[in-house]
Amino acid sequence: MISAPKKPLPIRAHHGMCLAFFEGKGYSDGFTAHMGDVLHTLKEDTPIQVCREKDIICKACPNLQNGICASESIVNFYDDRVLELCELHPGQHMTWGTFSGLTADRILRPGLRSSICGRCQWDDICRRKNAMLFPESHSGF
Ligand code: SF4
Repeated sequence: MISAPKKPLPIRAHHGMCLAFFEGKGYSDGFTAHMGDVLHTLKEDTPIQVCREKDIICKACPNLQNGICASESIVNFYDDRVLELCELHPGQHMTWGTFSGLTADRILRPGLRSSICGRCQWDDICRRKNAMLFPESHSGF
C-alpha cells in the first residue's frame, strides 16, 4: 500500500490515460500490483504534480533503466500530446480530480486517445474501455 501522500505525487502526463483504463494488467506482477495501489491512493483531492519524466508508476516498472524509460522517446511524445491537449506544462501542481477530469474532457471523451497512443501494446484494452466509459466518443478507433 502507498500511504496518503504528504508531497504531491508525480504523475507522468500520459499516465492520466493509462490510469483511466487500468484493469490489472501490466509489465510484471510487481508493476501491476503497484499500479493498482497508486490508483487506489489517488482520490479527487489528492495533490499531484504532472510531469514528463519518471513518476510514481514508473518507479516499479521493469522498463525503467537507470531512471529512464526504455521507450523514453515514444512516452515523451505521449506526454507532450497530453500536456498540449490539456493546456498544461510539466511540473504543474493540481489535484488528481482536476487532472483526471481534464484528461477525460480533452482527450478521452472527444475520442483523441488513439491519435496519441494507438500503437501501444495495451491499445485493445483502452479502445474497448474508452468506448464503454465514454460511448459518446466513438473513440479509440
Ligand atoms: S517506465 Fe516507461 S513503460 Fe514503464 S511505466 Fe514509466 S513510462 Fe510506462
